[in-house]
Amino acid sequence: MAPGRAGSLESLRRLNRLRVINALRDVGLISRAEIARRTGLSRSTVSSLVAELQADGLVVERSEEPASAHGDHGGRPPTLLSFDASAGVAIGIDFDHHHLRVAVSDLSSTILAEREQALDTDHLAHEGLDAATELVAQVLADAGVERGRVIGAGMCLPGPIHQPTGVVGSTAILPGWVGVAAADEMRCRLELPVAVDNDANLAALAEAAFGAGRDAKDLVYLMISSGIGAGLVLNGRLYRGSVGLAGELGHVLVDPGGAVCRCGNRGCLETVAGTDALADLLRRSHGEGLDGRRIVELAREGDLGTRRVLADAGRAIGSAAATLVNVLNPELLIVGGDLAAAGDLLLDGVRESLGLAALPTAAEAATVVAGSLGDRAEVLGAIALVLSEAEGAFPMRPVAEAGAR
Ligand SMILES: [Zn+2]
Repeated sequence: MAPGRAGSLESLRRLNRLRVINALRDVGLISRAEIARRTGLSRSTVSSLVAELQADGLVVERSEEPASAHGDHGGRPPTLLSFDASAGVAIGIDFDHHHLRVAVSDLSSTILAEREQALDTDHLAHEGLDAATELVAQVLADAGVERGRVIGAGMCLPGPIHQPTGVVGSTAILPGWVGVAAADEMRCRLELPVAVDNDANLAALAEAAFGAGRDAKDLVYLMISSGIGAGLVLNGRLYRGSVGLAGELGHVLVDPGGAVCRCGNRGCLETVAGTDALADLLRRSHGEGLDGRRIVELAREGDLGTRRVLADAGRAIGSAAATLVNVLNPELLIVGGDLAAAGDLLLDGVRESLGLAALPTAAEAATVVAGSLGDRAEVLGAIALVLSEAEGAFPMRPVAEAGAR
């Protein structure tokens, strides 16, 4: 990525930039005042972000449009803006436990083509990277997009990513990737700028930019799958911590005498409320081979055992999240991951424990909702990572005709 202006102010602008792009995409032709109203951003922030997008050739003024009915400049029609989403494309690559998903989108995050394939859980990193390289070529062909129009790729991995090096840390979910400089490897294969982050962070970014957290400045995203992690958006900024490990909620101690966790400690939240832990609890009554999707299905059909373990898991997650709520005072807790599809069967337990364990005022302020992007949150987050980091990269794009002024 192009070297950006550093600092937290800059990071805040990145999410705000996505929200402005989103408003432009949703409405088509829109005034600066209306963008400010829809995003909750100040008019001066909107003006400066729009100026930046104009400089990048992504936003054009349509002053020839007829006066809007709600012009507020004493009869002078507001200048309307439109977004040139066709000025380039971004690629999102999402590795999960046993799937690889690749999507290509225009610059307003509208997906143009998408493919998915199964991956062996024990695959080696270079096998996964090669498969992704192949899938990228296929989705670009599906979308009829020249490689020269791609501004960059974002990659999602379900494990701790050391920032800013992009090296994968210790993870039992993708054991073949530990120690691999994932972003560099992918950059060499694709010959494109590549940014990488973990699944909880990218799903948090996607929900904050396009999903359930669009109006929130401070939110915690809880990813509940075989692993458990939190993505933190604080003051409009994705918070990664000093080396990218912020939000490792799955390894918070909840049961000192509990099962040994893959991290080496005992009784981590993940050993109590992760999908694998629930499958273990249900083995005696439901046999082998339950995964998150099946657990949710059974619970929805009214199966008492699965409803019980989901409610207990929700309570355990809520107890751990209560500490986050007390420390960070978020306005929103978004629950995502495999088990989020259980909805209130899981979320009511989270709410109950927050009510018991968090400060009453902090608990009241934190609304608990399910994510709205489902299992596409990560790939959308990978795309959002490109779009939010690509500031300054657009003038270098090979296409000059579209949006050039
Ligand atoms: Zn652990």
